[in-house]
Amino acid sequence: MKGGADRLAGAARYADFRAAVFANATLREPPLPRDPAGPMPEIEMQARWFAGEFGRKFLGANGEPVEIVQFGHWNHAAGPDFTECAVRIGDRRHTGAIEVDRDAANWESHGHGANPAFDDVVLHVFFAKSPPATGPGAAEETRFFTRDSRHRAVAQVALDPAALAGGGEARPFGWIPEARLGRCATPLREFSGEALDSLLTAAAQFRLLEKNARLRAIADAHSEDQALFQALAEALGFRHNRFAMAALAQRLPMKRLRREEPDTREALLFGAAGFIDHEHYAAAEPEARRYLKELWDRWWRLRDAHEPDAERRLHWRVAGARPVNHPQRRVAALAALANHWRAFRAAMPSPADGGDWPKTVRRLLTGLEHPYWSTHYTLRSAPSAKPMALVGKDRVLDILGNVLFPLAVAADPAQWERFKALPGAVSNEKLRRATLRLFGENDPRAAECVKAYYRQQALLQIYRDFCLEDFSECAECPFPGQLLQWNGER
Ligand code: SF4
Repeated sequence: MKGGADRLAGAARYADFRAAVFANATLREPPLPRDPAGPMPEIEMQARWFAGEFGRKFLGANGEPVEIVQFGHWNHAAGPDFTECAVRIGDRRHTGAIEVDRDAANWESHGHGANPAFDDVVLHVFFAKSPPATGPGAAEETRFFTRDSRHRAVAQVALDPAALAGGGEARPFGWIPEARLGRCATPLREFSGEALDSLLTAAAQFRLLEKNARLRAIADAHSEDQALFQALAEALGFRHNRFAMAALAQRLPMKRLRREEPDTREALLFGAAGFIDHEHYAAAEPEARRYLKELWDRWWRLRDAHEPDAERRLHWRVAGARPVNHPQRRVAALAALANHWRAFRAAMPSPADGGDWPKTVRRLLTGLEHPYWSTHYTLRSAPSAKPMALVGKDRVLDILGNVLFPLAVAADPAQWERFKALPGAVSNEKLRRATLRLFGENDPRAAECVKAYYRQQALLQIYRDFCLEDFSECAECPFPGQLLQWNGER
């Protein structure tokens, strides 16, 4: 039997492999300058900032050390993005607000510099600094000074997307490589089943520990409970609404929800999500109207403190999502989870736990019910013929694989064996492309790979580390060359 840390030795080996691959690579830079912000939506940037994913310690624009002591709260009203923050700049601690923009120039273009509501800002955070389109300095790096309406300078921090857990992707967000056989398929064909499994195990372990590190960063910035609550919200938001759900869980953290009774928690989450308003009421069926009226009776008292300003409303993506994944049902599932929080926490594994905790978690999640949402897809839909699970089997698997196992395995490496037994999730476009590029269409190992969750995770990791970082249509990718070495070193 392998002991504790030995079980996860693959993670370190994959980390070394990655480092060696890129150290040996001759071409790592893309042929054209890239926008470091890419098209990352501002809501994602802000949610990741608030979660502490960019870190807490930075160098300010003048080289001064900047440390976030408290991330504060999301502002629901007009004004700076985050309020009641504490920031140490040099050796002085400042309390006030933080403004997070995609581009430093937004400070002026949005009129913050002339708006006294922004005089409380102690830190301006941004991704990019746009150069002026024409005139002097057009081709140079431009320095923007952030000044408030009283002409005081505000400290600045430029975020590095590469500081995100797992590093930033070189490609613009949302870009996907071509669906075709990759150059690495040739050396991979030479791998025995054992060699392939050692590579996939290592990549999966690396990914699992990275996910744990991200959860730890959120816990460090906020609390263990909040890290878990946000991660569950993201898992419920799935692909399309992941960061809208994260922002909702950040705006209404577990600590705040705990102070309320169950029906009020639900009303708070639906209200802050923007689903309790005249537009939704007018379009609703009679049963949904009764339900909305119950929510409204609780929401109106809390509305002033929690209703987002028009510019801060969450934007939910409905197109392309299956009806069971409609954001209204996802918010209902989050409310149900918040209302069963104690039972959920009790089901989590502890180092001394010998019981079948995944089974307990599965039972709890699939057993969640709701008088309205167990039979409706949306606030507009007619009742379904049969009751539907509030959290379906796919979401449960995702919660186990992406949230709970990363925590469990990092705390107790023996849990790795349980993680290995998780079945593969429903495939998605990234996974299909990764499998096609590494194995081609007719390699039976491709089908084998997607049957186990850990192998799927490994393929996604390799795809992110190499396919998304390649700018040469495989020609310059260092992965195939290094695979021979992996095979030889086992
Ligand atoms: S980019 Fe690299 S890892 Fe991706 S398919 Fe091509 S050779 Fe393989």
